[in-house]
Amino acid sequence: MRYYPESLLKLLTELQKLPGIGPKTAQRLAFHLLREPAEDVRRLGDAIARIHDTITHCEICGAITDVAQNPCYICVSPQRDRTQLCLVQRPDDIAIFEKTGAFNGVYHVLGGLLSALNNVRPEDLRVIELHERLEAGGIEEIIFALNPSVEGSATVTFVTRELRPYSLKLTQVAYGIPLGSDLDYVDEMTLSRALEGRNVLA
Ligand SMILES: [Zn+2]
Repeated sequence: MRYYPESLLKLLTELQKLPGIGPKTAQRLAFHLLREPAEDVRRLGDAIARIHDTITHCEICGAITDVAQNPCYICVSPQRDRTQLCLVQRPDDIAIFEKTGAFNGVYHVLGGLLSALNNVRPEDLRVIELHERLEAGGIEEIIFALNPSVEGSATVTFVTRELRPYSLKLTQVAYGIPLGSDLDYVDEMTLSRALEGRNVLA
């Protein structure tokens, strides 16, 4: 690849660090950017460069939100049902529910799944924050929407044990939803069915 200028090679290297971007796609993107007006490319670069300054995690649920909107719009919305709390692994999972409008409760991001392999321990999960919300009262049901993997099951077992002191209804969405993976689209019907068909854990 020595026939590319040094700065283009640098861009290709950075692009290839992104998920799903191989050498060919990186090349296509880089040349596309070169053809675009400098102003447009600068705007894109600026949006990327400032992402950590403009986006943060909601202090209540852990969703991603604008720094200027914290707590997030879901946590402050008077329209949401605060008796139902959906427990998800990652902030991206919230988008799946929100895109379809199938759920009108509130969320809590755990931030991971227990895994000896990946060295994710109980203290790495946002469990203290969950206790704080439960102690504040109002929540009647916790809906587990975690990946149906070995790690997901271990996490459900662990969190269920943590929740013993509270009198809560614990449920789990029906499997078949590819949570925690790169999904472009889960239709409302599928998600509604998974929520309606949720299993009662306790
Ligand atoms: Zn929130």
